Amino acid sequence: MQTAPNLMPIPGHVDPVPVPRATPARADGKMDLVGLTRDQIRGALEAAGMEPKQAKLRSKQLWHWIYNRGATSFETMTDIAKAQHPWLAERFAVDRPAVVEAQVSSDGTRKWLLRSTDGHDFEMVFIPDADRGTLCVSSQVGCTLNCRFCHTGTMKLVRNLTPGEIVGQVMLARDSLGEWPSQPEGRMLTNIVMMGMGEPLYNFDAVRDALRIVMDGDGLALSKRRITLSTSGVVPMMARAGEEIGVNLAVSLHAVTKEVRDEIVPLNKKYGIEELLAACAAYPGANNARRITFEYVMLKDKNDSDADAHELVRLIRKYKLPAKVNLIPFNPWEGAAYECSTPERIRAFSNIVFEGGISAPVRTPRGRDIDAACGQLKTSAEKRSRAELDRLAEEKQAALG
Ligand code: SF4
Repeated sequence: MQTAPNLMPIPGHVDPVPVPRATPARADGKMDLVGLTRDQIRGALEAAGMEPKQAKLRSKQLWHWIYNRGATSFETMTDIAKAQHPWLAERFAVDRPAVVEAQVSSDGTRKWLLRSTDGHDFEMVFIPDADRGTLCVSSQVGCTLNCRFCHTGTMKLVRNLTPGEIVGQVMLARDSLGEWPSQPEGRMLTNIVMMGMGEPLYNFDAVRDALRIVMDGDGLALSKRRITLSTSGVVPMMARAGEEIGVNLAVSLHAVTKEVRDEIVPLNKKYGIEELLAACAAYPGANNARRITFEYVMLKDKNDSDADAHELVRLIRKYKLPAKVNLIPFNPWEGAAYECSTPERIRAFSNIVFEGGISAPVRTPRGRDIDAACGQLKTSAEKRSRAELDRLAEEKQAALG
């Protein structure tokens, strides 16, 4: 397949899907410094004409102000000469994604609909608990993967998010929680999961670069042990994720037979269950203290039988995986093809896995009153997407025989 020079192929579950790699330049012509490394900031300053020695010093100061202090304008950067502020402000910005809508659930869950400078919407969710708070971060606008239980899967991929838009989500959450400067103690935002919209391993470079800034001790300073990357099973990228990012791994498993997983997570047709579990077994850094999490959404009469639970235990044992299983009651959305398993079924499933020696907590649904399931806020006001219409048409055709 021929692609235009500025497009890169992203492997989808059926065909490669070309998406524009580069984000369009900002309308005001400025460069956003959020998402840049120290060296990239220095390079940007030099390219704008700053003398190299000064650029080296300024890049360190800017890095500190941006990522440690959460500055959103150059005027607040007191150790940078006042006379230089306008020069910086004319050429550079320190922005966050724009907030289109912010909601707070009765259980404290917060959800934001965000907009990129080129007008695309994506989501971020903060889930507070007694002793921690987890931010669910998006990596793409839309998704190529069409997992059938997932609302984001009904949206076609628009584009990858940039490192700045990924780090920007964390920074925006910190703004909102009042957690600047970066400090290790007393934070509400303690954990990050790359589990929002998109498949992070299809936007590997940007996710890696963003998480490196998040993990940098002089940056946002969150430990890699508190960051989890969730993949639907992009097997060829998993080892690199372990080596180059080194965060915890979560896998959207959701089924234990080829037939059912092919249906629920179509990527399974490309990378099957056994191949996926072998990649998990080889994931660098996984051990009993840092287990791999298997996400398992509970779908009535689809993947929730006793036999499924026994098979799950068998598979995890076969690959000797240091694992825990998160059982997620399905949060239905309009037009979804599935229903949630009954509470009794979920309990029975959990017990079987637990008796198999594997922790299998049932996740309490959070933020249901604000449609906090991934992708719901974005599309609540939108019409059915093309992907969903295609799927419905296919089903209709199949039914007609
Ligand atoms: S579960 Fe993740 S990978 Fe699958 S469609 Fe939804 S956003 Fe994409």
